[in-house]
Amino acid sequence: MPEALIIVDFQNDFTPPAGALAVPEGDEIAGRLNELAGSDGFELVVATRDWHPPDHSSFAEQGGPWPVHCVQGTEGAELHPALEREHVDVVLDKGQDRETEGYSAFERPDLGRLLSERGIDSVYLAGLATNICVRGTALDALAEGYSVTVDTGASRGVDAEGIVPTAEAVSELSQAGATVL
Ligand SMILES: [Zn+2]
Repeated sequence: MPEALIIVDFQNDFTPPAGALAVPEGDEIAGRLNELAGSDGFELVVATRDWHPPDHSSFAEQGGPWPVHCVQGTEGAELHPALEREHVDVVLDKGQDRETEGYSAFERPDLGRLLSERGIDSVYLAGLATNICVRGTALDALAEGYSVTVDTGASRGVDAEGIVPTAEAVSELSQAGATVL
């Protein structure tokens, strides 16, 4: 089963100490992500970036749940400098559409296309945040028929009002058919 590693949103704005929407301990996953990406276990390594227009509907000033984060072209939207880029085959930006959440990387039709071109039928997910963009990507991957593994040791969650709590998201993913590590 050819498998893709999808590193979800390991970006400056999602990591302490300076991120605009820092996921607690979000910076601590760097070592594990590099280990996974540098292993021979994956046919393809994709790193996604949340990549929003400045007036994205998820921002508090537009009535959304989040502070301004990952605005296209800003330092905050760049991949975390600790991620070893030489292991990343493709950087995929999502969340460009003002009106949609942009939580799932499968919102970009080219992801499905890329995976099918490579004959990939399994995806291994890690990154930020477990209960938001990892969750959204995992649920879409399951819905599209991929075999899905979620590595919670290489992911971190962020709990916020109105958002599925991390523990709940993990059991939901497991019940939906993902292998949760
Ligand atoms: Zn976002």
